Parts: sequence; structure tokens; C-alpha cells
Amino acid sequence: MHEMSLALSIVEQTREAATREGAVRILEVEIEVGCLAGVLADSLQFCLEAVGKDDGLADTIFRITEVGATGNCRVCAATFPADSFLVLCPSCASDDVSLNGGRELKIRSLTIED
Ligand SMILES: [Zn+2]
Repeated sequence: MHEMSLALSIVEQTREAATREGAVRILEVEIEVGCLAGVLADSLQFCLEAVGKDDGLADTIFRITEVGATGNCRVCAATFPADSFLVLCPSCASDDVSLNGGRELKIRSLTIED
């Protein structure tokens, strides 16, 4: 399961960062997931909680923020929010659209108790 391996890697990075900061407890982890990253936020949330529980982070809140992408129409130059790879320009219905952003998958911030 894709989300499970991502969860393992996020928990590992969280623990490393916490060790580096000398944290006693990790209160909250904020994770940014782009809408085009191919990750199901609900599923990732579930996996993070399961992995965290096994790894001493049972009290840690994992907060996932979904980040949108922006589409730019190459035909009429319209800019619009996009949430999938298959988008049509809302003003001219062209499919000649370039997508920016939306592929992030990273830890945005950690709230720790030191
Ligand atoms: Zn257009």
C-alpha cells in the first residue's frame, strides 16, 4: 500500500526532526499533500495514526492539508484552480493546459514540547 510506505517515511522524518530539536514530545505534525501527488489524504491519515501508535507517537496529531494546483491555458491564457490531471480550460474548453503545483508531499511544520 502506497500510503503506508509514505506514512512510515513521514513518521521517520518526524522522529529525526524531533531528535534534532531535542523534543520530548511531538504534539502536532502538519503535512502538505498536493492534490496531484497521487495520495489519498484519508488513507494517509489512517496510516499515519496506525504507524504513529506503533512508534511512540500515539498522542501526536497528524494534520494533513491538501494543496491545490493551478492550471494555465495555453490557448487563452486563463488561470484557474485544478484538482486533477484531466482538466479543461473553463473559459475556452481547451485541453492544452499546463499545471503548476499540486505535487507536494512534505512536512510543513512540527509542534513540539521541549
Ligand atoms: Zn482557455
